[in-house]
Amino acid sequence: MRPLSLRTVALAALLAGVPGLASAQGVVNIYSSRHYDNDEKLYAGFEEATGIQVNRIEDNADVLIERMKSEGRNSPADIFIATDAGRLWRAEEAGLLQPVQSELIAERIPDHFRHPDGLWTGYAKRARIIFYDKDDVTDVPETYDDLADPKYKGMICTRSSSNVYMLSLLASIIENEGSEAAEAWTQGVWDNRARDPQGGDTDQLKAIASGECDIALANHYYFVRGVADNVPGLTGETDQIGWVFPNQDTTGAHVNISGAGMVANAPHPENAVAFLEYLASPEAQQYFAAGNYEFPVVDDVKEAGPVADLGSFKEDTMNLSKLGENQAEAQAIYDRVGYK
Ligand code: FE
Repeated sequence: MRPLSLRTVALAALLAGVPGLASAQGVVNIYSSRHYDNDEKLYAGFEEATGIQVNRIEDNADVLIERMKSEGRNSPADIFIATDAGRLWRAEEAGLLQPVQSELIAERIPDHFRHPDGLWTGYAKRARIIFYDKDDVTDVPETYDDLADPKYKGMICTRSSSNVYMLSLLASIIENEGSEAAEAWTQGVWDNRARDPQGGDTDQLKAIASGECDIALANHYYFVRGVADNVPGLTGETDQIGWVFPNQDTTGAHVNISGAGMVANAPHPENAVAFLEYLASPEAQQYFAAGNYEFPVVDDVKEAGPVADLGSFKEDTMNLSKLGENQAEAQAIYDRVGYK
């Protein structure tokens, strides 16, 4: 048998993603609305594995979308990273993303976290769940529908309905139960409010700690931050807050993603695909999820630390592209109900 040439070995190593031997050159330009310390490890890991240099701009997702729109065909952006499928959909709607077909991504990332045409992919997941005051709530709500039950009158806090997390949750209820039921639910939750919507998810949890609210909706990681980091007004108070992964006997809990897609006029499309594939690797999955106490989306990668303490749960497996498709209707329902 003829020995393999050095060139063949180097190529094989490149295809296998072996760090150090990869010789691909160039850059990838990333527009990201994430800003976590761990993302540094993510970009360094990618540079080491591929030799491709990462340039990035970080800003609010809607600001980045406007920027790409105004840059038009001359935009240097290769990759757009955002939290919430509802925001990725806004980029999609503006024609800013292009389809990526990758067997590796299709194999590793569950179907429901991938756009049907490959316009974006989810790489970390978050659950929007129910939190409650253990002292004051004896009859604990177990489903999203329960939150509309009049027995919780004057007890429930949420953030404003214009927030994308609230739009995506209602979009999922529209998809699962239909528009009429979704509107009745919205009216019921509004009628049960403890106060008019204010602040972000952390503020809803702080309001449970301070006694202003008995029950609140929040993404899971805001609570985990309160446990693991120093969040004034929440850290030290988390023992009194219970949590419920809703709909465990039916659809499963509403989950959403942090995700990424290739920009429509990406100047470095091959490097962009290499980056999107890297995000599905076990190493990147750890960095990407841990940066914000999210859950990895690849099956064989396990969350660690305080996130794991929340326990395992059944998640809703509807394709998250539905959240964008139903976003306008969700906004219309909130407006009709007068949900601030
Ligand atoms: Fe968030």
